Amino acid sequence: MDKIMVTRSSMPPYEEYIEAIKPLWLSRWLTNMGVYHQDLEKRLKEFLQVSQLSLFTNGHLALELALQALKLEGEVITTPFTFASTTHAIVRNGLKPVFCDINPDTYTMDVSKLESLITEKTSAIVPVHVYGNVCDVEGIGEIARKYKLKVIYDAAHAFGVRYQGKGIGEYGDVSMFSFHATKVFNTIEGGAICYRDETFGKYLYQLKNFGIRDEETVDGIGSNAKMNEFQAIMGLCNLNHIEEELLKRKRIVERYRERLTQVSEIKISKRQENVQENYAYFPISIKDECKYDRDQIYRKMHENNIFTRKYFYPLTNEFQCYHGQFNSNRTPAALQASRRILTLPLYADLEIKDVDRICDILAVLVRGGD
Ligand SMILES: *Cc1c(COP(=O)(O)O)cnc(C)c1O
Repeated sequence: MDKIMVTRSSMPPYEEYIEAIKPLWLSRWLTNMGVYHQDLEKRLKEFLQVSQLSLFTNGHLALELALQALKLEGEVITTPFTFASTTHAIVRNGLKPVFCDINPDTYTMDVSKLESLITEKTSAIVPVHVYGNVCDVEGIGEIARKYKLKVIYDAAHAFGVRYQGKGIGEYGDVSMFSFHATKVFNTIEGGAICYRDETFGKYLYQLKNFGIRDEETVDGIGSNAKMNEFQAIMGLCNLNHIEEELLKRKRIVERYRERLTQVSEIKISKRQENVQENYAYFPISIKDECKYDRDQIYRKMHENNIFTRKYFYPLTNEFQCYHGQFNSNRTPAALQASRRILTLPLYADLEIKDVDRICDILAVLVRGGD
């Protein structure tokens, strides 16, 4: 049996990309906010339905620099059920992450636990639209207004998601999207920050280019996080096919849902109301009734040439690099989720017959078969 990987990067037809990059051999403008960079910003702003958008060479640096541009201090409330990037971006800004537990149904921040974590040192909230699931943006917004906190969404998984008919990047002060090769939309590596405040935008632009204001003025301690033209063109080409890609993902997710709702030993996520999904991931949670635990299911799937991912395990507040600093027992729902979660293979070109094979094998395994 062929191997089924957990993900596979989307690429435009070879000829389309090769044609599109040809002009670069004439212009020799390879990076530093060239014409394709500008074009991609414009087209993404439209597609994501956001007011302002700034491109970056990857999502992580985008998040790191957005936090810097907001000039935050002290403590930042976030969740540990995420990719390393979210927590590292906070810590690398000299800020202290304070971990809020998650809602076990959506895996996003449990807003009922949020208020009790706020102290006089709290300056911001960094929630994650994990798997493309929409956070309780109203609840978070209300608390942020009450305590005058900034809200920065890690929307790395949420490309193209809409809530109440609005682009997800319009919620909070700032949102970060990732365009990494494994994400729903990619620029090989890449990312963007969406925002509304013009002053913030100008400073952010400076920070991605060494803090340079003009030829003779450097008044920000910036980094280098510019997206190059080859990345931007990959983005423009991939954007030409995005609707089709999303439709293919939708069909796969619908098949998974149809097949796996009947399997009582695993829990699958419910659809969220008023949300236009992007079908980024298909997480399942292994229940107690299951004959094998999560790690055994993971191994046995692997033996059947099906590659799943323990995404997210471990929690970021359990990482070795943070040893002794945080206590993951204070986020029990996140801890439970991380011990039970598996994300199943999902990418646009995954065939329905392979989805069926994955579901067949899973259905046997959860009842103790091999
Ligand atoms: C992918 C990802 C990032 C970082 O994005 P890169 O573009 O890979 O730097 C941040 N947060 C989450 C939740 C992610 O999945």
